[in-house]
Amino acid sequence: MTAYLHINGLRKTFGEVVAAEHVELKIAQGEFMTFLGPSGSGKSTTLYILAGFQDPTAGDILLNGRSILAMPSNKRNIGMVFQRYTLFPHLSVGENIAFPLRVRRMAEDEIRKKVARALELVRLTGFEDRMPAKMSGGQQQRVALARALVYDPPVLLMDEPLSALDKKLREEIQHEIRRIHQETGVTVLYVTHDQEEALRLSDRIAIFNKGRIEQVGTGPELYANPATRFVADFIGDSTFLAAEIAGRSGETVALRFPNGTEVAGIPLHGAGQSGTAAEVMLRPERIDLSAEAVGHGATLPVTVRDTTFLGNNITVDVETGWGEGLSVRLDFRHPLAGRVTRGDHLYMRWQPETAQAFAKA
Ligand code: ADP
Ligand code: MG
Repeated sequence: MTAYLHINGLRKTFGEVVAAEHVELKIAQGEFMTFLGPSGSGKSTTLYILAGFQDPTAGDILLNGRSILAMPSNKRNIGMVFQRYTLFPHLSVGENIAFPLRVRRMAEDEIRKKVARALELVRLTGFEDRMPAKMSGGQQQRVALARALVYDPPVLLMDEPLSALDKKLREEIQHEIRRIHQETGVTVLYVTHDQEEALRLSDRIAIFNKGRIEQVGTGPELYANPATRFVADFIGDSTFLAAEIAGRSGETVALRFPNGTEVAGIPLHGAGQSGTAAEVMLRPERIDLSAEAVGHGATLPVTVRDTTFLGNNITVDVETGWGEGLSVRLDFRHPLAGRVTRGDHLYMRWQPETAQAFAKA
């Protein structure tokens, strides 16, 4: 398969620092792909190489099967929106958006039409003559988006474009970005360190860690089947318990907990053999609490340490008999919700196939 956009074995070093390594990714036309990872994991570096602002140390970028590395940034026809507002302060909104078209020496009436359409796309019709300083942060980012899209680039790159905005505004513009992606069909590469934003916007997510991609998948795939402990920790809420591998059967393991309880049928990620240490990742919302040790699944006795009321759910921090802490989330409809107090002796239960075992490196 020839990918529309192929990031092929990218590597970038700055002196001793390895910013990106073995970055390999195929992106389909019209896809919304997000780079998600902590600060310093190589997301921006990869994006800047795509944009042509930086040259890779090794590797290639192919668009429709052809390398674009030799092509200067302004010839790549790639739109770009940055974290900070990068509007020209001395130009009106209309002139900011018209700028890429003037650079391309487009005719005046064509420019007027395209600017009007771009303003409509970001819902800022009527703001042509406004100066950027007289607009809110959210509006300025919409103008930046209109400027990036005005010449119909086939690819749009966005580097944490909403991180300077407050939560409410961020969610509003996330909504707009989704709509614009659907309306234009533009291929988007989006950088964020916010998992919720990634899950909201993306067709697929590439999880970056220390300059490498740990896993690529849809949000539900990454959530249900994280390939590494890092991914398990980064996507969704997770809570971990230490255990020992008691036996292995194909892709699943039986784990032995310090109280002697054995739980079979837990999916294993990575290598692992009997007698070695492992960690099991549980989703707080997939654990049940009950007063009696009844029902199917793995069961461990726990003591309640703390409860936090969060409206539609209650987070209960519990401790195992051997002193390990973990979190459980009870839906507000749960029979125990609101009736759990510190010091209660309860049983936690989960289905082994919803847990993930990671062999300790
Ligand atoms: P992210 O966008 O995921 O936060 P970056 O791609 O900006 O991460 O950075 C990856 C690593 O490369 C970091 O350790 C960063 O300090 C380093 N780095 C990025 N740009 C430069 C640069 N121009 N000079 C030196 N080091 C850099
Ligand atoms: Mg960055």
